Amino acid sequence: MLNGKTALVTGSTSGIGLGMAQALAAQGAHVMLNGFGDIEAAKAAVAQVATGGARVGYHGADMSKPAEIEAMVRACEAEFGAVDILVNNAGIQHVAPVEDFPVDRWDAIIAINLSSAFHAIRVALPGMKARGWGRILNVASVHGLVASAQKSAYVAAKHGIIGLTKTVALETATTGVTVNAICPGWVLTPLVQKQVDARAAAAGISEDEAKKQLLAEKQPSLQFTTPEELAGLAVFLCSPAANNLRGAAINMDGGWVAQ
Ligand code: NAD
Repeated sequence: MLNGKTALVTGSTSGIGLGMAQALAAQGAHVMLNGFGDIEAAKAAVAQVATGGARVGYHGADMSKPAEIEAMVRACEAEFGAVDILVNNAGIQHVAPVEDFPVDRWDAIIAINLSSAFHAIRVALPGMKARGWGRILNVASVHGLVASAQKSAYVAAKHGIIGLTKTVALETATTGVTVNAICPGWVLTPLVQKQVDARAAAAGISEDEAKKQLLAEKQPSLQFTTPEELAGLAVFLCSPAANNLRGAAINMDGGWVAQ
């Protein structure tokens, strides 16, 4: 379905981004990966499911650095000819009360979870408009729609990225480029595993009990959303059925924000 298209997925060496990269490659899109950690394992995981001759590339841009983000978009265009699908997914978390929130963590979260999307969009959008087709998927969060205590920077960044999504959707409304946000609830990735571990350690409970408590507090389904489920939504947003789906923030959250 996506043969001949190229997807640039930020933060795709792990978790949700890796799941989305795999699903897009399985649909035949070339994929440019980005992120830290075990790069070779991520490349192999995506190559393994790629179809239709889809190729896998990698760029190590640090998403807190505007010049590196611009270089990554240009490298993707040089290697594959285009950025047709841009998934702004890279993100980090830090949990602390606002008066104790480390200033450097605030700055890093705003840079990586919010400003990085602005920089990638501003560089990739002209090419999409010129080609008359594009998909921009911003991985926000339920925390783009509602807040939780101790997550001031994350909630501010995620509310911001939904605002950015709506604005760019309006600016592209008469074009073949659509812009939407995906809002997951709890997904059991390394980002959330840290919060599970912290809860287990603080309360002196097992990891399993900590997971149960985490879900029971916020997510009525009592099930984690999976990267595969979110990747299915990403593929749908790239399909012709989603041609006029614009400026939406779609929550896939086990009922979290329905409460
Ligand atoms: P993860 O920790 O598994 O993956 C994060 C990815 O971002 C990794 O590939 C990492 O290397 C990359 N990354 C981090 N800092 C980077 C930087 N400076 N430059 C480049 N890459 C960087 O986390 P995840 O849970 O898969 O999170 C992915 C996105 O989903 C994030 O935006 C997160 O806020 C969002 N999200 C996650 C959940 C959840 O429950 N896990 C819920 C809602 C939203």
